[in-house]
Amino acid sequence: MSRSSPAGGASPAPRAALQTFATPLSPAATRVMLLGAGELGKEVLIALQRLGIETIAVDRYANAPGQQVAHRAHVIDMTDGAQLRALIERERPALVVPEIEAIATPALIEIEREGLATVIPTARAAWLTMNREGIRRLAAEELGLPTSPYRFAGSLVELRAAIEGSDGQPPIGYPCVVKPVMSSSGKGQSKVDGPDEVDAAWRYAASGSRVDTGRVIVEGFVRFDYEITLLTVRARRADGTVGTAFCEPIGHVQVAGDYVESWQPQPMSALALERSKDVAGRVVDNLGGLGIFGVELFVRGDEVWFSEVSPRPHDTGMVTMISQHQSEFELHARAILGLPVDVSLRTPGASAVIYGGAQAGAMCFDGVAEALAVPGTELRLFGKPESFPKRRMGVALARADDAETARRRAKLAASLAKPLPT
Ligand code: AMP
Repeated sequence: MSRSSPAGGASPAPRAALQTFATPLSPAATRVMLLGAGELGKEVLIALQRLGIETIAVDRYANAPGQQVAHRAHVIDMTDGAQLRALIERERPALVVPEIEAIATPALIEIEREGLATVIPTARAAWLTMNREGIRRLAAEELGLPTSPYRFAGSLVELRAAIEGSDGQPPIGYPCVVKPVMSSSGKGQSKVDGPDEVDAAWRYAASGSRVDTGRVIVEGFVRFDYEITLLTVRARRADGTVGTAFCEPIGHVQVAGDYVESWQPQPMSALALERSKDVAGRVVDNLGGLGIFGVELFVRGDEVWFSEVSPRPHDTGMVTMISQHQSEFELHARAILGLPVDVSLRTPGASAVIYGGAQAGAMCFDGVAEALAVPGTELRLFGKPESFPKRRMGVALARADDAETARRRAKLAASLAKPLPT
């Protein structure tokens, strides 16, 4: 379950446990800055607050969910290295915790190198995982992990050639999946079933990219039985060494590349689970540092493919707020502070996303009491100041004696709690 592992690659050695947990807002306080203060950041901030940490929430817009629970909030453009650096110099946090991908990672690399702050888990991990090319090449080419066949393309001509093999390389073939290299949550991603869909996929990728790099990855379509997130934590053990621990696997359903429901535990064969842990352990040990990672894997029978990794809590892991003794957010907070963790399951559980459903400003929720009357349920309403149809506004959580019952309960509760414009 747990094993020793050196910090891999060029990453710095993980920091020692923080020795002081002084009163927040006092000169000796330990300050932690979250870069990104959405629903995941909010829960990390709450977990840090419970440990007496002084918290700073940064986002690109005001009143982001995490900013509503932090000691201080700042609105900056986090893709602007100068703005990011100026804020870190002003606030002097001990830890800088990226919660999103769209951050000026070269600035984080400098900040880490100069010792201005510790970047979680490491600046290199943030840099490698913000671009699909960095993490895919590391996983497949350096670590030799199983992945879907893939190619990168910088133009429509290159994309077509990569799929059809007209450039003399082995073809990716149809069906395949085209994704901008700078994207997440299915943005700009499409499945391509035949030659007449390639143009549209290229155009859609350009529209969904965070940064218009004009570069895409095309992956062979994996016919998996199911996909999982294996939450993997690098944390200090009581004896001070760093160990890697694995939560129970989380199954999930994605629609158009975005998560709609998840559950824990996902039943797996012993061999598939062992292979999943091996893949996840190798990736996170290379990325190094301390904290939680969401390792996404495809599974068919006993076969496992690495898909992606987030060096931070994962959206599908919101289920752990009901299913584990320590949620992924508490695990992250403890790990980054150099404290020991407990990854054990408390009960089978499930989560179901509540989408905004409409374009609107301030929202209210109807049916909250009805949703919470479903046995074993909880809600997290994120408090986002604005809604749009596909924006995640809340999540229903449910526990039960088995994950299937928990799924039914979570979906029912999510359908009863309805966001409405005020
Ligand atoms: P991603 O943004 O890469 O995590 O992709 C979002 C979702 O799209 C995944 O969770 C899968 O459900 C699906 N997907 C992505 N890549 C592939 C692939 N190569 N084969 C099959 N399904 C995929």
